[in-house]
Amino acid sequence: LFAGPIGFLKSAPGLEHLPSPDVPEVTFAGRSNVGKSSLLNALAGRNALARTSNTPGRTQELNFFDVGDPLVFRLVDMPGYGFAKAPKDMVRKWRFLVNDYLRGRVVLKRALVLIDSRHGTKDVDREIMTMLDKAAVSYRLVLTKADKIKASDLATVTTATIAEARKHVAAHPDILVTSSETGLGIPELRAAVLEAIG
Ligand code: GDP
Repeated sequence: LFAGPIGFLKSAPGLEHLPSPDVPEVTFAGRSNVGKSSLLNALAGRNALARTSNTPGRTQELNFFDVGDPLVFRLVDMPGYGFAKAPKDMVRKWRFLVNDYLRGRVVLKRALVLIDSRHGTKDVDREIMTMLDKAAVSYRLVLTKADKIKASDLATVTTATIAEARKHVAAHPDILVTSSETGLGIPELRAAVLEAIG
């Protein structure tokens, strides 16, 4: 499936813009700069799928990508969170959009919550995890940029992240360790997405 056509469908700045819910969806969430665009591109095996998006404005939208021809499922790129200088108004908007999407989307099968290996789980990550718990959306934690740290540090952050996952009811107890740079964990991530759509 990932070898076949994958195309950008649309951006939804609000719930009224969501595509009709006719195929399963898997969504990707994470702090800005966590490596979400790079991981989506690595997953899809192409370079220009998700724009690397470091500007706060751009990321206040849900981005939908169609996978398969005929269409089989959609990847949904959630707006990044945790900008140091995000205005309160923007944070509020993000919370409404994401919460509404998570709670109301019947075709949403799973979320992948990305965590930077160098930083580990932060309070903003715990916030989205709690939102997912409350919305009863099952999810997996995915460590990104594993190539950036020493093996011993990676082992430490992996253990800590598994412990974090176990504190959350809707989190899968196993995490994924990835690098878009080296391709580490990308086959496992693809398998996790395909397993989620059933
Ligand atoms: P986003 O804001 O979450 O979409 O993050 P991006 O995908 O734009 O990545 C943010 C920065 O981290 C960019 O400079 C990427 O080149 C870099 N980056 C992303 N993934 C990796 C990775 O696996 N390894 C390394 N070394 N750098 C990465």
